[in-house]
Amino acid sequence: MQKVAILGLGIMGNGMAHNLLKAGFALTVYNRSREKAAALEAAGAQVADTPKAAAESAELIVAMVADDAASRSVWLGDDGALAGVRSDTLLIECSTLSTGWVRELAELAGRRGCAFLDAPVTGSKPVAESGELGFLVGGDAAALERARPVLEAMGQRINHLGPVGSGAIMKLINNLMGGVHVAVLAEGMLLAEQAGLDMQQVVTLLSNGAPGSPMVKGKAPRIAARDYDTHFALRWMHKDLSYALDEASRHNVPLPTVAAAREIYRLALGQGFGDQDFAAVTEALRPKPE
Ligand code: NAP
Repeated sequence: MQKVAILGLGIMGNGMAHNLLKAGFALTVYNRSREKAAALEAAGAQVADTPKAAAESAELIVAMVADDAASRSVWLGDDGALAGVRSDTLLIECSTLSTGWVRELAELAGRRGCAFLDAPVTGSKPVAESGELGFLVGGDAAALERARPVLEAMGQRINHLGPVGSGAIMKLINNLMGGVHVAVLAEGMLLAEQAGLDMQQVVTLLSNGAPGSPMVKGKAPRIAARDYDTHFALRWMHKDLSYALDEASRHNVPLPTVAAAREIYRLALGQGFGDQDFAAVTEALRPKPE
């Protein structure tokens, strides 16, 4: 079995790492806060002190961290993974990132002789845990075939979009729509609540009616219950909408609806909801008692 390293053991990386272990890969893990590696260590993973140390023993490296800054920090610098790779190591960036940084990272990987894929994921915490993620892959088809056994240990749907950066842009489009869905769901549900409707009935009607996207179906019952246990942190949705707006401005595509939604998430961030599930955007809009 291939030797795999995973960098980042947050909500998503943790589930992905457990599934790599279950599939029998020899796994080395790195996380900035080492305590998050304890359960994986107990389950048989090696824990590395730096991304570089994790990379040194790996044939394939998966990164799953927060944003561009986090990705830079695990790949670059004296302790970064790029300092530890061999020329035949395959690098896979699964974090949701800007296309600019993904292409820069692919270029840096290429200078070390390494193949690179951007492979951001669809699906949230439960899907990462159950090994049913979708992958949106950009990069070379031959590199994807090398990566396939590892991706299949963590997910079910592997979609090849095109060259490096194609996975990243598809992921931003996916999330800009998801972010807008939940912001407008919050508005609709608050109006229903203030108008005195039966919220269980509202959830059923919205979920089963024309607006009932998978996103609405998943979030409506949680908003009704004010259950904001984090599956996808609000601060990362704000990040994704920001990357999407930057990307769109480079293509001269107006995204006024996304811009408005991003402002609502910014408001919620400012009110301290950043670490809660992004459905907590509802609380930032909830009318305050007179
Ligand atoms: P998370 O639980 O907040 O975990 C973030 C990870 O990034 C942690 O390992 C964290 O390390 C690390 N990190 C943050 N800043 C860092 C820095 N400056 N240097 C090094 N490491 C840093 O987030 P998540 O939900 O797993 O999301 C990870 C990525 O997947 C994000 O790009 C997100 O947009 C994307 N994503 C998430 C979901 C979802 O539903 N959760 C779905 C699809 C895609 P510490 O533990 O030390 O903080």
